[in-house]
Amino acid sequence: MADQPQAVLVVEDEEHLAAGLVLNFELDGYRVEVATEAHSAERALRERRFGVVILDVMLPDLDGFELCRRLREAGDFTPVIMLTARAAPDDRVRGLESGADDYLVKPFALQELLARVRSQLRRSDWARRREERSNSELLHFGETVVDLGARIANVRGARVALTRLETDLLRYLVQNSGRAISRQELLEQVWQLGNYPNTRTVDTFVVRLRKLLETQPSEPRHLLSVRGVGYRFEIDPER
Ligand code: CA
Repeated sequence: MADQPQAVLVVEDEEHLAAGLVLNFELDGYRVEVATEAHSAERALRERRFGVVILDVMLPDLDGFELCRRLREAGDFTPVIMLTARAAPDDRVRGLESGADDYLVKPFALQELLARVRSQLRRSDWARRREERSNSELLHFGETVVDLGARIANVRGARVALTRLETDLLRYLVQNSGRAISRQELLEQVWQLGNYPNTRTVDTFVVRLRKLLETQPSEPRHLLSVRGVGYRFEIDPER
């Protein structure tokens, strides 16, 4: 977290508002990504890691409440600040009950949004440190230590934040270590996509995990290729 700017995901279909938020977050030193609908936001959150999500309630596909509920059900606890156009107490309650961490009623002062984002980031920083101390699921691979619970890898002294998909993939490989696993099985079990058109997606993630875990990614010792099948994971490879 100290090495790279915090990433903010703005989920908002109103172009002007989204552009204004992007500009101001960038001026404040954040990296910003915009999703104009709930489904693309969901995809972005599975594939990349964000420090905070700014979530508009009114979206063209799912509403913000539903998206937030789905994220929490999927085990994604990225802080969510909801933007609602309605000041009805009902909406605030719905927002908080769907798992949002905070909400702002439109129109809002930008300075207030920025202050609330900073507050959420501080809170998750504390939570992360607490989690790190608990050492919940520590795995050691050569020069790399991975904490699956905190989704953090320490690679030769450098901290690397893992995405949810990278963590899920690694956890599945570890749980099934010693056994050859097909790409199809990984897509079904990790991506939960039965007929995903392109098994190359798996290979792309494997390349990324090898860079994290392997001392020599081109000659892997843990995440091995099995010709004609897929992959096999070895936690303690024989020397
Ligand atoms: Ca909207």
